[in-house]
Amino acid sequence: EGLPRFRNYPPVDFTVPAERAAYPASMARLRAAMGKQVPLFINGKDVTTDDTLDSYNPADPGEILGTVCQAGVAEVDAAVEAAREAYFAWRDVPPEERAQALLKAAAYLKANVHDLAALQVLEVGKQWDQAQADVGEAIDFLEYYAREMIRLGKPRRMGRAPGEMSHLFYQGKGVAAVIAPWNFPMAISVGMVSAAIVCGNPVVYKPAGSSSCVGRALVDMWKAAGLPDGVFNYCPGRGSVMGDHLVDHPDVALIAFTGSMEVGLRIQERAAVAQPGQQHCKRVIAEMGGKNATIIDDDADLDEAVLGVLYSAFGFQGQKCSACSRVIVLDAVYDRFVGRLTQAAKSIKLGPAENPANYMGPVVDKAAQENVLRYVKIAEEEGRVLVKRSVSDDVKATGGCYVPLTIVENITKEHRIAQEEVFGPVLAVMRAKDMDEAIDIANSTRFALTGAVYSRSPHHLEQVYRDFRVGNLYLNKHSVGALVERHAFGGFKMSGVGSKSGGPDYLLQFMDPRLVCENT
Ligand code: NAD
Repeated sequence: EGLPRFRNYPPVDFTVPAERAAYPASMARLRAAMGKQVPLFINGKDVTTDDTLDSYNPADPGEILGTVCQAGVAEVDAAVEAAREAYFAWRDVPPEERAQALLKAAAYLKANVHDLAALQVLEVGKQWDQAQADVGEAIDFLEYYAREMIRLGKPRRMGRAPGEMSHLFYQGKGVAAVIAPWNFPMAISVGMVSAAIVCGNPVVYKPAGSSSCVGRALVDMWKAAGLPDGVFNYCPGRGSVMGDHLVDHPDVALIAFTGSMEVGLRIQERAAVAQPGQQHCKRVIAEMGGKNATIIDDDADLDEAVLGVLYSAFGFQGQKCSACSRVIVLDAVYDRFVGRLTQAAKSIKLGPAENPANYMGPVVDKAAQENVLRYVKIAEEEGRVLVKRSVSDDVKATGGCYVPLTIVENITKEHRIAQEEVFGPVLAVMRAKDMDEAIDIANSTRFALTGAVYSRSPHHLEQVYRDFRVGNLYLNKHSVGALVERHAFGGFKMSGVGSKSGGPDYLLQFMDPRLVCENT
């Protein structure tokens, strides 16, 4: 109340000289200070460990951003204990006050947007504009969930029976484990963490290994917001060492996870087992992978479609859960579209994200590089290569985690490259005789996250609205870059369980509803 209506943080405008100049300045500042030990943060204090993991620049693996302390079982126990102790007091802080903490956190991000975006350029190889959009999305989550909590925080009168006052209201569930991916290192982490916190749940936050320095920025953000000790605990660690322990912990009431299908399914299975002493049924929110398709109708505006597919397949090297990895092209327009897409893919510049002239850079780390290279080989075996472009030899000599931009055709539903998530710049081109067949192909995977359709036919747009069954479908628009509220985000089938992040039902998952009925 009294808050202005929610609005999305604006995209960066590089025609403004100060915006352009900010990046080199921020990167120079970061470089002067980086490479230090990064401690955990538990119960309001920094904690160091003997086990550490270096987070490096994927464009130049010799450049270490931070030597990140790794939580083991003992640190997880300490963090869960701190969160458990903080729970009762935090749960009972009035919703408006919890919302205020998010608004302060948003103010901190706005004041530091360039440094935080530049950190992503160096740590995960994200292009400038997309790094800034990621911080912008984090700001949006904070601003939106603060308003949502104020809306949901008011007890609701149920029914109008005379002689009875019946109220429905919500309370935080308990300790939340937040397990995050590296690809939207600030936005997705801040989204899940802030939702848990604003609902009254203290958090044990585990960032992904390759984005743990960005993850540490959440400590500074919550300090600026003035959270009580124990409400936010930063607990990076190896999934193989402490992941199961955190998920299995009997004092964890809720797990918010975003990442791969494999890890998401494992978490759901383990969380279903009640451990000795456990007092809750664990709630799991798991946002998982995609194998997203874009359909090109025979009357599509190809100027728009080529750029849209290029950006959603190769922006941030295809490492988005929403990325286009299958383009399904109607027969009548196949040669024209594929010819133009191929030309466009051959014209873009490849190299480190640090140079804004480069459209596509390295994948996030050496493990991702190996994995994508394996899929490039599968793509070559299954289809006919249209484009396979690598960085120039002098860029290659830097030892960066580069993989070729790859487009293959002659792919059909049965191929692995049409079914498995690659999470890299590998695009499968598939041919359909008409819209019915295109929709059938589009729906033929176990995932249901995003999709896009380029068409000028009202009849076909109506048909895909109804029959192209994914969580987020975009018509005459590319499938990436969802905005909080306007494009509330999330899928179903094997793409995850839980309702849409940045949408009106999201916070409800972090709370238990209570009803009190008084006979008056
Ligand atoms: P990942 O599944 O490898 O890792 C995600 C997190 O889980 C990391 O923090 C990792 O350390 C942790 N983890 C690993 N093993 C664990 C275990 N046994 N127990 C608990 N935690 C464990 O995914 P990633 O490589 O970080 O991210 C890429 C994946 O995320 C892709 O599949 C992508 O589609 C998906 N993703 C989905 C969405 C969405 O909104 N649906 C958004 C972004 C990314």
